[in-house]
Amino acid sequence: MSAVIIDGKIIAKALRVECRVRAEQLKCKGMQPGLAVIIVGDNQASGIYVRNKVRACNEAGIYSEVHEFPDSADQDKVLSCIHELNTNSRIHGILVQLPLPRHFEDKKIIGSIGVEKDVDGFHLNNIGALVTGYAVYPPCTPYGVMKMLEKNNIQIEGQHAVIVGRSNIVGKPMALMLLEKGATVTICTSKTINLEEHTKRADILVVATGKPRMITAKMVKLGVTVIDVGINRMPDGKLAGDVDFDAVREKAGYITPVPGGVGPMTIAMLLCNTIEAARRIQSEIMSKNNTDK
Ligand code: NDP
Repeated sequence: MSAVIIDGKIIAKALRVECRVRAEQLKCKGMQPGLAVIIVGDNQASGIYVRNKVRACNEAGIYSEVHEFPDSADQDKVLSCIHELNTNSRIHGILVQLPLPRHFEDKKIIGSIGVEKDVDGFHLNNIGALVTGYAVYPPCTPYGVMKMLEKNNIQIEGQHAVIVGRSNIVGKPMALMLLEKGATVTICTSKTINLEEHTKRADILVVATGKPRMITAKMVKLGVTVIDVGINRMPDGKLAGDVDFDAVREKAGYITPVPGGVGPMTIAMLLCNTIEAARRIQSEIMSKNNTDK
């Protein structure tokens, strides 16, 4: 048996077309959705991610602007930029590209983004909303995974989902989203004893460790759905996931490739969240205008 490949590029493309239509509709009502991206330092990978996000915005008809700061930048300068963006009516979504330099306090920076513009969904209020099942802006990568499962009609309710990795941006929100949809969830970390014992019991296995090809065929059961979030640059320059794709695909029911799996979905979900932010602000303005009449 060879798994069905979940093609993130195709799903993301369709979502981006939907976003373009929604952006156009908002524009007709006098509001072009806008995203501001803040990047601090010269991390090469971050630079590529930001350029890809800006390109995707342009294609979707979303206005975008990038605020770049050097590695040595003062945290207060970045904070005042965020405060300005919070009140800038052209901007509906603000994203701070992570990781930040070591002398920055991530919590303080993310916490300064207006909750209603936090399209990455990392603000504590948005995390709280996610925990209680009322997420407005779900974090983009796990949100993209949920879309991939939905578009492939993969059952979540009643299934055993195993997540390998507990980061704040992938593993933990992923667990909450799957839990919300009725999965029984296990989270594994680098401290988990006998990882294979857990991964083998997964109906849905999501891997986000940054450890290339660590999930091998003997660690999964027949027919499992495997979502590989990992993106690792190998010594030969090629990208590899956290899953041994060639071997695991022979046992899995569904599997995502790297590249072309979760990666394109993350950007598509960012566009969706930005448009949702603009839509919410637009409908608030409309209802205020109606009340004022
Ligand atoms: P982090 O480094 O923040 O977290 C990695 C997690 O994996 C940690 O919780 C760690 O456990 C766990 N882990 C590491 N080694 C093992 C192991 N041997 N067994 C079990 N668990 C292990 O990474 P991120 O979550 O930020 O990213 C993970 C991967 O996903 C990376 O390759 C990253 O590039 C990629 N990524 C891809 C995105 C996309 O759009 N496709 C978006 C974001 C990330 P512990 O907590 O105990 O240390």
